[in-house]
Amino acid sequence: TAKLEGKTALVTGASRGIGAAIAKRLAADGARVAITYTRGADAAAEVVRAIEGAGGRAIAVRADAADAAAVRAAIDRTVTTFGGLDILVNNAGTAIPKPFEETTLEEIDRVVDINLRGVFIATHAALRHIPQGGRIITIGSCVGERMGTPGLVAYSATKGAVKMFTQGLAREVGPRGITVNNVQPGPIDTDLNPAAGSWADPQIANTALKRYGHVDDIAAMVAFVAGPEAGYITGASLTVDGGTNA
Ligand code: NDP
Repeated sequence: TAKLEGKTALVTGASRGIGAAIAKRLAADGARVAITYTRGADAAAEVVRAIEGAGGRAIAVRADAADAAAVRAAIDRTVTTFGGLDILVNNAGTAIPKPFEETTLEEIDRVVDINLRGVFIATHAALRHIPQGGRIITIGSCVGERMGTPGLVAYSATKGAVKMFTQGLAREVGPRGITVNNVQPGPIDTDLNPAAGSWADPQIANTALKRYGHVDDIAAMVAFVAGPEAGYITGASLTVDGGTNA
């Protein structure tokens, strides 16, 4: 049987990019999958169709990661549709790259609301449902540990915060058999961080492998952490960054 047979996963921000790859991979491993999105209803429906076309089960729910009521409703709908929730993947995130002094307080608030408060909101609501053997996985960033470029001050602060969120929560829910981990991507080719363009060159130079990564590189790590073989990994930050932080 598939590794995640009988499990239900919710992946936030999964209409495109890394989240969409994670949703498809968890479904391929046998999980029922719920995804959230904000604007990309068509793209989200496409992810659901791809999963169903491959014989899996999926739903898409519009829920801004910063909107606590909407996120709670998405989690409730996941539980009513699939009968439970075992795996939460906090993937929704955004960056507004520019020098800190040119960043407005509204832009800083938005980054904090989605990348940090959004992780608190979803995890808070999900933990009421997640049973023994459950998984909480957050997509942090290699810049949560080490910073090689200017322009991501608030963003890197939120990613450093989710690293410590992971370690703190691991201590609280470990006795219930729930693991909490942080997957830290390096440069991955998505709409948020396209592999072509001037913004990409210094990031490539910073990697040991001298190239961008693919969304499936992150999905593979998330699938491993979600699976039964990773039951003794918790409070960990697992870096998948082509050697950026080496
Ligand atoms: P993309 O911008 O390519 O995709 C973001 C996804 O999240 C989309 O499906 C988008 O859907 C959804 N989304 C955006 N805002 C919200 C919100 N407020 N609430 C719910 N959903 C939302 O991003 P990536 O795939 O590149 O990034 C995913 C995660 O990986 C983020 O946490 C990011 O910080 C992290 N990361 C990415 C790296 C990279 O190089 N790409 C490197 C390190 C970390 P919609 O348009 O419908 O809202």
